[in-house]
Amino acid sequence: MRDEGADTPASARVEAVARRALVALGMLWTLPNTAVGLLLGAVGLAFGARPQWRRQELACVFHAWPWGPGGALTLGNVILHTGADLDVACVTYAHAAGLHVEAPVQLAAHERAHVYQYLVLGPLFLPVYLVCGGIGVRNRFERAADRYAATGRGWWPWPTPPMSVRNADER
Ligand SMILES: [Zn+2]
Repeated sequence: MRDEGADTPASARVEAVARRALVALGMLWTLPNTAVGLLLGAVGLAFGARPQWRRQELACVFHAWPWGPGGALTLGNVILHTGADLDVACVTYAHAAGLHVEAPVQLAAHERAHVYQYLVLGPLFLPVYLVCGGIGVRNRFERAADRYAATGRGWWPWPTPPMSVRNADER
């Protein structure tokens, strides 16, 4: 018999605890955004939306949310999603803008990057996001989310992410 826990170095355990504490602080910090998301999600419930807690995304996802142009919108630890399943492929912003031909990325991973961004910026997220250009490839937040979805790294939008996820490893 082996006790896996006993083999874990103390530094790794400290790191895990610190990470959990930081996430908890971030969730508290971004609670105003989460509250708006929960309110919009709750209204959607009356029109057929289905809530699901997704541990990996650290988010309550409202599937089949009935409004919007289609896709997903993250508000703090809430994701409003017009589709039925978050584990679907979506095109990157650079691809959609015709800048590069890129492989699709996982929508869940893209939105997870936004959740992480919200944990850091809290109530500042939406103003800073809008100042950075709103929804589109010009927005560093969207390019960082696509890069993270494509490579598993680089969700933080500074320094300026490249215009293409293909160049994400070249820095
Ligand atoms: Zn996005």
